[in-house]
Amino acid sequence: MIALLKDLVRIKSDTLEGANSALLLCERWLEQRGIATTILKHEEKLMLVATIGDGDACMIWNGHVDVVPGNSEQFEPFIEGDFLYGRGAADMKAGVAAMMQAFYELSKEPENLTKKIQLHIVTDEETGGETSKFLVDQGYTGDFVICGEPTHLQIGLQAKGIIQFDVKLKGKSSHGSRPWEGNNAIEQAFLFDQQLRTLSFLTASNEFYDYPSLNLAKIQAGERYNIVPDECKVGYDLRFVPGQDMQSIIADLQSLSEEFPNSEIHISTTAPAVTTEAINPYIERIAQVTSQFIGKPAVLFGQHGAADARFYAETGAGAIEFGPSGGDWHGEKEYVSISSTEAYKNILVSLVKK
Ligand SMILES: [Zn+2]
Repeated sequence: MIALLKDLVRIKSDTLEGANSALLLCERWLEQRGIATTILKHEEKLMLVATIGDGDACMIWNGHVDVVPGNSEQFEPFIEGDFLYGRGAADMKAGVAAMMQAFYELSKEPENLTKKIQLHIVTDEETGGETSKFLVDQGYTGDFVICGEPTHLQIGLQAKGIIQFDVKLKGKSSHGSRPWEGNNAIEQAFLFDQQLRTLSFLTASNEFYDYPSLNLAKIQAGERYNIVPDECKVGYDLRFVPGQDMQSIIADLQSLSEEFPNSEIHISTTAPAVTTEAINPYIERIAQVTSQFIGKPAVLFGQHGAADARFYAETGAGAIEFGPSGGDWHGEKEYVSISSTEAYKNILVSLVKK
């Protein structure tokens, strides 16, 4: 499994071409071990699906082989102590290698499976997750989904929802020496920002999150010192807490923007929150098996970012992020713990074995 992980890290999969060749390596590895795979293609991006076992209940293991860009040394994996270093080691080629190894071990005795297992390997999680969404749209769904993102063997059962939006504030231009004759659109944007931050939906919380988050991500206005700007565009990234109603948040944003004459609001991107409940037989089973392997109670937590789990969660399936320990993913010294990758593989096998 560690040899497979090293082979995966060696493939510079920070491009579409690289991610596709990493996926084809997974295909070859599985086929050499007698596992039939289906390769799908969507807009030149490849996906791999493999299934073992049968029955109505289906658990999906999802992993991505694309990585964020790295320098060339990061694609030469090396081991120091318990850590394997390299781009994508943690996020999430270790998760993929462990899922493949567990899948292979289980495929040798499918009669001992408690349910059907479907492996999904995708190639664009870091750039939007179109391929996981495509699989879901094609009907590749199940009752429960594990995305093998690095979580230190903790169970990430919720993720915040997303509303990204732009607001265009209008003012009136005048000469910079006579600003009282105009209406400064940048100052309107400041005012909008202040009022936005007092809206009550920003105080929501639940058992896993203390509040939503709001990032003023973009601002565009002003051309010259001597002109009062008549237009200011601001762009926000709002992450709301599972349980909050997205439509009512959007309605609140719209009514705030209506208080600013001639302003326009545009909702750019939305994604629902992942709201898998802790009281779920799959979560209980995963927590129980994990605690046996780590020797202490399993930890449940809420992720701040959103990964591919969200596409499956939209179908009503329970979906979690659950994977090995590591650090500095998206950074320069990305690494994964080999012992936790081994433990993760063993947990996956135990989860679904009679
Ligand atoms: Zn990832």
